[in-house]
Amino acid sequence: MSGTLPASSVDEFQIIADLFAPLSRGYPGALNLTDDVALLAADPDHETAATMDAMVAGVHFLPDDPPDLVARKLMRVNLSDLAAKGARPFAVMLAAAFPRGTDLDWMQRFAAGLAADVAEFGVSLIGGDTVSTPGPLTLALTALGKVAKGRAILRSGAQAGDVVWVSGSIGDGALGLRAARDGWPGLAAGHVSFLAGRYRLPSPRLSLGAGLVGLAHAGMDVSDGLVQDLGHICRASGLGARIEAAKVPLSAATAAALATDQTLLASVLAGGDDYELLFTAPAHATEAVLNLGRRVGVAVTAIGSMAEGEGVRVVDANGGTLSLPHGGWRHFSATETGAGA
Ligand code: ADP
Ligand code: MG
Repeated sequence: MSGTLPASSVDEFQIIADLFAPLSRGYPGALNLTDDVALLAADPDHETAATMDAMVAGVHFLPDDPPDLVARKLMRVNLSDLAAKGARPFAVMLAAAFPRGTDLDWMQRFAAGLAADVAEFGVSLIGGDTVSTPGPLTLALTALGKVAKGRAILRSGAQAGDVVWVSGSIGDGALGLRAARDGWPGLAAGHVSFLAGRYRLPSPRLSLGAGLVGLAHAGMDVSDGLVQDLGHICRASGLGARIEAAKVPLSAATAAALATDQTLLASVLAGGDDYELLFTAPAHATEAVLNLGRRVGVAVTAIGSMAEGEGVRVVDANGGTLSLPHGGWRHFSATETGAGA
């Protein structure tokens, strides 16, 4: 096969057979990607959680980003959604629209990255579509996971009095985007590469999410920013939330960046791409949540609580409310504000 896609007819069958079919091994229902569909076994005790995220060159990644990392991020942002529901991933499907003339080398490196994560997370690629496009390279991945019937952790399950928790550290994704794009003069090189790595290659919190089934009342993953995403849980649950800015867990790198520029707090609390889990659990589950975090090796931090009302209130160390009215977090009077207001 030549190094580029022919302009008129994409040899999609060869691409599928060579690059993608090997990733379906281990899932007989995928039929080695040689039929029209994949067959998923029905199981009366479980539900299948399904999610899809798409990435467009020039929008969600840069055309010169390493293709293996593009594949792995595409995989991981989807697995993060399954993790947030407590579902265990078993299969993914890929729709790939390659511009005419896409390098075969790019596709091979993309498939190699996908293969690495297929192996790491124990999933199979069970189908998809491969087409050419006059537009930018566009990739969409569907991830399927299994969760015990009726036990998925939904956004709508929070109860007043619940403790609000987050996993890992918050803000690395948003600061990492900046670090990956522009570097960061004035910040230690180790911190810069840590942040860029957190942006490029998120870690879906799958073991934590699965362990939270039966413990957490509500949950989601932090992809659009902590405050906005907690706002989604508030709306879905018909409640409000109060979190303490000082309790939000920060990596050493983000803490160091914040020490040089306090206004970065806005990006930490409202930026996106963290792919940490945000969940609520009753106060009596606190020990169990902490034990789970220790068992799976992921930090879990209580940052606030759910209450009657609406919107997310972020308070500073003095109990004053922080608000984001003009593009930056600032001190605000002690009135309640909606998420992302
Ligand atoms: P159709 O003609 O119905 O579009 P295809 O010939 O495109 O079917 O696909 C053949 C098989 O290859 C199907 O099982 C399909 O799910 C799979 N497939 C196609 N593209 C991909 C891809 N990018 N990743 C995984 N599986 C794929
Ligand atoms: Mg097709």
